[in-house]
Parts: sequence; C-alpha cells; structure tokens
Amino acid sequence: MAFVSLWLKSPSLAILAVGSVAFDTVETPFGRAERVLGGSASFFAVAASFFVPVNLVAVVGSDFPEEHLQAFRTRGIDLEGLERMDGKTFHWQGKYSYDLNARDTVCTDLNVFEFFKPKIPERYRRSEEVFLGNIDPVLQREVLDQVEKPRLVACDTMNFWIAGKPQELKRTLERVDVLLLNDAEARQLSGEWNVVKAARAIRALGPKTLVIKKGEHGVLMFGEEGSFAAPAFPLEEVFDPTGAGDSFAGGFVGYLASARERGEEVLRRAVIMGSTLASFCVEAFSLDRLLHLTRPEIDERFRLFRRLTLFEEL
Ligand code: AMP
Repeated sequence: MAFVSLWLKSPSLAILAVGSVAFDTVETPFGRAERVLGGSASFFAVAASFFVPVNLVAVVGSDFPEEHLQAFRTRGIDLEGLERMDGKTFHWQGKYSYDLNARDTVCTDLNVFEFFKPKIPERYRRSEEVFLGNIDPVLQREVLDQVEKPRLVACDTMNFWIAGKPQELKRTLERVDVLLLNDAEARQLSGEWNVVKAARAIRALGPKTLVIKKGEHGVLMFGEEGSFAAPAFPLEEVFDPTGAGDSFAGGFVGYLASARERGEEVLRRAVIMGSTLASFCVEAFSLDRLLHLTRPEIDERFRLFRRLTLFEEL
C-alpha cells in the first residue's frame, strides 16, 4: 500500500475545464447533423457536471446561441471563463465510415479559436482538478501557469500536436498526472507499436497514469499498480461517436473529483464511470443524450457494467 498514492480530501469545489466549444457537422452511416453543439470542452463539461460543478474556459463567436449557453447553465457549468469574441465560433466537420472507429476530418474552421488565449478567472485559480482539453500544448501550459498547484491535472491531445509540436507537448506532459490518448496517438507519441511498451515510454515522460482509448474495444489504463482493462458497453444503437473520448474524460475526472479518496480502486471505478458516460454520448448526435441524462440512469449503467465483466462470485 505504501506505493499507492492514497489521500483523504474534502470534495473539491469545481473542476477547471479548458478546451474547444464548437459547432460540429457530423455525418455517420445513420444520418447527418449540421452545425450542432460540439467541442472537446462541451462534452467534457456536461459529462463531468453529473459529479461536481465545472468551470469552463473556452471561446465562442458572436454567432453562438443563448440556447446552448442555457444548456450549460442548467447543468451547473459556470461560464465566467467562456469568452465571447467578435467573429464565428470554431466549426469542425467529420465523417464516419461504416466502421465507426475510423473518422475523417472534412474541415476545421478555427475562426475565433485561432485567437484563443485561455484567461483563467481569479476564482477558478484554486481548482483542485484541471482538465486540459485538446488544444495547443503551449496554451495548456499557460493554463497551468495560471492555477495554484492542482491535485490532479488530466490532459488530452491529438495527432496534430504530437506531429506538429512534439517538444512543446513533452514539456507539458512533465506537469500532467493523467494523459488520455487513443491507441494510434499512443503509438505515434512513443514511437512504439506495442501498447505496453508505448505506455511505459509515455509514463516516463511524466504522466503517472495513462489511459489508452480504443473506441468500441474499450480502454486500457496503465498506472503505478499495473494495468486495468475495461470493455466498451455493448450497445444496440450507436449513432455518433463524436465526443466519446471527451465524455469519457468527463466521467473519469468528474468521478475522481467527487471521490473522497484516491488509489487504484477509485481509479478503476473512474475508468468504468468514464466508459459509462461515453456509452451514453454515442447514443445520439451532439450532446443530445448527455443533456437529457439523469443520475439514476448513470448509476444503473455503471451497475450493468460491473455485471458485464464479473466472472467470479456471480
Ligand atoms: P472526440 O470525438 O472526443 O475526439 O472529440 C470530438 C470533438 O473535438 C468535436 O466536438 C470537435 O468539435 C472537437 N475538435 C475536433 N478537432 C479539434 C481541434 N483541432 N481542436 C479542438 N477541438 C477539436
């Protein structure tokens, strides 16, 4: 037990979440959604809001509707850090083939996101949990420079930054506790094909815990206590995988923030909670399912998850 980082804490006030708030246009084999609410910070914040309040830092344009702001507010998401700039909101368009694990980016219109410089409001600076969504690793570090030493820094990134700013990303990772990546990104970042070797190499860069997301094949977590595998929840209806990774992160970090202690068991439950939130996200386009979700539905699916993988003492 000595090497398990277990500590007691009072529940933190709120998670600080930084990332994109976007309009998404998404095409899947089952339909199309045009300019709907998306963005890494949106999915994260709504998923995490089921556990603790969330302070959101992002930027939107003057075309961003009040209706979306209201949706965030009703989930207890604080918007003091959501900057409104003259211009258009970030727009991302993606297309999925019949294999929903593979997607092509059709276009990325950065718009106001190109000028995003995260400014952390005074009252967010003592956040104990910080989620650095997929943005420039230099900006991710600027966020960390503006907060007092948080207890947990979780970070997401993507192939664009791994290829484009590898040294900056590595400097950021030195200050990260939990890194969330998909398997292709883990291979790209480490230069190792084998995920176990990739995990060892990435953990040596800083993050004590690495979560490798594998879409419908679930997740693998590598940490101080070895590894843990969780399947994805078997669903009959999968409409749109967009945001599944960020919803996973929201469930994972949200659960950790709400737990009174930390350690291997709590981390494992957080992985299942992340997988639970991701499973709801993919059932509808945009945030449609997450915004209508209830805590009893989450708890019921978490319970079903447990049963899914139990093979002793049934
Ligand atoms: P996920 O499916 O969890 O990887 O996240 C999808 C979300 O990421 C979409 O809602 C997009 O709006 C957002 N996104 C796509 N590309 C970028 C980018 N380059 N920077 C920030 N967010 C992005």
